[in-house]
Amino acid sequence: MQTLKNLLTQIQEVGDLKDLETLRLQVLGKKGVLTQEFSALKKLEGKEKTQKAQELNTFKEAFVRVHASKKKELQDLELEAKLRAQAIDPTLANSTLGSSLGHPLSYTKDRIITYFTQQGFKLHVGTLVEEERYNFDMLNMPGYHPARDMQDTFYFKDHKLLRTHTSPTQIHAMQTQKPPIKMIGVGPTFRRDYDTTHTPMFSQVEGLVVDHAQKVHFGHLKQVLEDFLHDFFGGVKVRWRSSFFPFTEPSAEVDISCVFCAQEGCKVCKHTGWLEVLGAGCVHPAVFKHAGLENVSGYAFGLGIERLTMLTCGINDLRSLFETDLRLLEGF
Ligand SMILES: [Zn+2]
Repeated sequence: MQTLKNLLTQIQEVGDLKDLETLRLQVLGKKGVLTQEFSALKKLEGKEKTQKAQELNTFKEAFVRVHASKKKELQDLELEAKLRAQAIDPTLANSTLGSSLGHPLSYTKDRIITYFTQQGFKLHVGTLVEEERYNFDMLNMPGYHPARDMQDTFYFKDHKLLRTHTSPTQIHAMQTQKPPIKMIGVGPTFRRDYDTTHTPMFSQVEGLVVDHAQKVHFGHLKQVLEDFLHDFFGGVKVRWRSSFFPFTEPSAEVDISCVFCAQEGCKVCKHTGWLEVLGAGCVHPAVFKHAGLENVSGYAFGLGIERLTMLTCGINDLRSLFETDLRLLEGF
């Protein structure tokens, strides 16, 4: 029994699971000490046999209990060591990752927002799912207007749609604020279009300034936009062309001298020397009427963030801005 008692001390000193298993086999295995002691019982008889059998069973119970508890202890230690070895420090710098200014689209958008908010324009994001009347009717685009064609707009049930431009933010601003209003609406817009210069989702910046009658006129609009274009593109020439938009009157489109060829003529400017960059005009009286404003004056303008990004980054295919090709993005 002395040997068996030593085994109970020995098991406490085992340092790993492999040694523990070896010891278990030495005791409980086919040729183990305890197994041999049990077979030796048959040589004994009577009271002596009963007593020995009891002792052996008591020892076996003790050994199994100590073994189980030791096994659990060693398993826990092993797991802890494994976890410690695998631990990572998320605060460490990864030298394989480069840094960047962000995606060209976000960079351009932030630049435009920063410029206009510094000029006192209040930022509106608006809602992407819009009511048909806010997207069209109230902006003086009646039911027969071609832009309302099913080909161009993503419609939902109940006269709802994905906004096709940021202009509905103008109506919301005019309905919720009293003049003077000075706001920019920024965010994604959606149309059913897909080619080198159109994607189903694109982002716009919308500007609106409204004040009491006669206070705001076309001259203010010209000043604000020409200042912006000179700030954004540097030394470019700016050209105003008469145009048509349902929600402005008079309306104009604005071009800048080609930033790629210095007006000598290239593929991007289609050999005209000019690049179209935005649309603008004085707010149409019908829009004021729909928004419930009287005796006011104002101007509005809109520009495409993708368009300005393409011009500043020299990208020909708009779709490349939405492909997650790291090699391309690293080029900017
Ligand atoms: Zn050009």
